[in-house]
Amino acid sequence: MGRYTDSVCRQCRREGEKLFLKGDRCYSEKCAVERKPYPPGSTARKRRQKQSEYGLQLREKQKTRKIYGVLEKQFRNYFKKADRQQGITGTNLLVLLERRLDNIVYRLGFASSRAEARQLVNHGHFTINGRKATIPSMLVKVGDVIQVKENSKEAVKFQEIKDQAAYKTPPEWLSVDAENLTGSMLAYPIREQIDTTVNEQLIIELYSR
Ligand code: SF4
Repeated sequence: MGRYTDSVCRQCRREGEKLFLKGDRCYSEKCAVERKPYPPGSTARKRRQKQSEYGLQLREKQKTRKIYGVLEKQFRNYFKKADRQQGITGTNLLVLLERRLDNIVYRLGFASSRAEARQLVNHGHFTINGRKATIPSMLVKVGDVIQVKENSKEAVKFQEIKDQAAYKTPPEWLSVDAENLTGSMLAYPIREQIDTTVNEQLIIELYSR
């Protein structure tokens, strides 16, 4: 299965909640979930039908994939990896997703959405521990330092990001130096520190069928 070709906002409407895929627009009155709080399609205004247990599990997995921008196969691989690790599989899964470089760039406040973070990483604007990092799915480790490349810092885009990042509060497991467009990972997050509406237990149940 490839990337979604559906409009980004339709994806939120289908899940019935804001997935925050479009940066600043998500916090404005232009948000499609605010304006059209019903599923897309010709039968859109019909009430949501009661979903089966399987349907709920499937939707939760799809929602999580959309939030983090991960393909089906990649997602399953994250699950397998999480399942092999010690601890709670659902939490392990979320921690793996949170450790993706594109997510870290977003959480640090250096992009307004994960999609934008992915694009900035793809375009080679970031380094990890001084080495160029262009793969959005790279897993960041505790102690890693993520920085905007020196010759990218002067770009108007990053000057704007710097101004905005100064007003954002990063999660407690990350530290940010907005002035220098640098951040680092202090620790892996515990479940309570991961700001998400995902019910990971439903995903575990889906894959355990
Ligand atoms: Fe989702 Fe953001 Fe679009 Fe609202 S504006 S529907 S939160 S992507």
